[in-house]
Amino acid sequence: MSNIKVVKFGGSSLADANQFRKVAAIIKSDENRRFVVASAPGKRFSADVKITDMLYACYEKAAKGEAFDKDFDAIEKRYNSIISELKVDISLEKEYENIKDAFAHRAGRDFAASRGEYLNSRVLAAFLGYDFIDPAGYIKFGEDGSFDLETTLSLLSPKLKSIENAVIPGFYGSMPNDTIKTFSRGGSDVTGSIVARAVDAELYENWTDVSGFLICDPRIVDNPKTITTITYKELRELAYMGATVLHEDAIFPVRAAGIPINIKNTNHPEDRGTMIVSESADISKYVITGIAGKKGFSVINIEKDMMNSELGFGRNVLRALEKNGISFEHMPSGIDTMSVLVNTDSLRDKEKSVLDEITYRVHPDHMEIENNLALIAIVGRGMRKARGTAGKIFSALAEAKVNVKMIDQGSSELNIIVGINEEDFEDAVKALYNAFVK
Ligand code: ASP
Repeated sequence: MSNIKVVKFGGSSLADANQFRKVAAIIKSDENRRFVVASAPGKRFSADVKITDMLYACYEKAAKGEAFDKDFDAIEKRYNSIISELKVDISLEKEYENIKDAFAHRAGRDFAASRGEYLNSRVLAAFLGYDFIDPAGYIKFGEDGSFDLETTLSLLSPKLKSIENAVIPGFYGSMPNDTIKTFSRGGSDVTGSIVARAVDAELYENWTDVSGFLICDPRIVDNPKTITTITYKELRELAYMGATVLHEDAIFPVRAAGIPINIKNTNHPEDRGTMIVSESADISKYVITGIAGKKGFSVINIEKDMMNSELGFGRNVLRALEKNGISFEHMPSGIDTMSVLVNTDSLRDKEKSVLDEITYRVHPDHMEIENNLALIAIVGRGMRKARGTAGKIFSALAEAKVNVKMIDQGSSELNIIVGINEEDFEDAVKALYNAFVK
């Protein structure tokens, strides 16, 4: 492992000249911050529009053969104001002409969106005096459109080894035929992770506008505490349940190499942020690491006498779901009952077909679908060692008068998931936070 730090700055960190100044100060304060991945300019204020969204809208017009000059002018203005305010020695006029020409020739939606990070990285590289590297030549997707890590590393690692400092646009790479392809939205996080892997970085710093992950949703609990350390596994559990900040796919390239990610705040660089690590010896201060949850689940309750002795019962129920293209979340069961929890959206318009298929396959005595359920995951590596965590969870929920409809503890003892009515969701999260953190 090297002592290199790869730093990625999100859209709000690079939204205007002032943010650029903060970013440059952060980069220059540590000489190990050698490789910089940049997003497109994001929102400057909450009603503002991200450059990426402006580009999508602009391209939509171009693709329909409509005039898009005015829309493109607004994009140029954003970059030009950064350039002039910072007095960067660069002109993007030629680039704008090329891009407009490509739009008129229907260069594709992905190409259009990618220009946001491309142009921003050109400006940032000039401002910092760093090399600019176009990921189109190094970050590669396969024929089927999935990201190709092996080919990417074989191209990117040697390139970066020969360079001292560089700015690399996030969000895109190219297909085998060299057309531009982007990751899904927020994909600059993934680029940062790939670059960190390619240089075998000591650390991947992901700079954003919050000081890391919060223990729970701040829209439910006022000012929740920040998670100081979280493992990749815990993060997967919380992210699946709706906690966001980092793109889900950003974990994999660095995780395999044991490179930690530090989520940091560009506006408060002194905050420690959240460290995401493979394993952690330090038990979190609060036994639990985080609480996350989602609404919008349904449960199919199935009853049949002597179910327990019927070979293949569970498989047949799941086959019925599989035939309808539905995956399940949890499957709590009793001796003669089985419940299958699914996402309500995935069941839409298929309820009858699913029930008919289950009836045909297992002939239940009784069956019903219950809607409006929420799931809450209480996640923490500390739970394995601490006795009484489940007791604490259920007494907190009971005190808050929340009825628990389902309980599931993962085999790794990393999480306990409870199913409750949607209307109890906020009360339950508050009760759990207060029980463990306050
Ligand atoms: N600019 C892209 C987006 O808005 C990618 C990114 O910022 O990560 O989704």
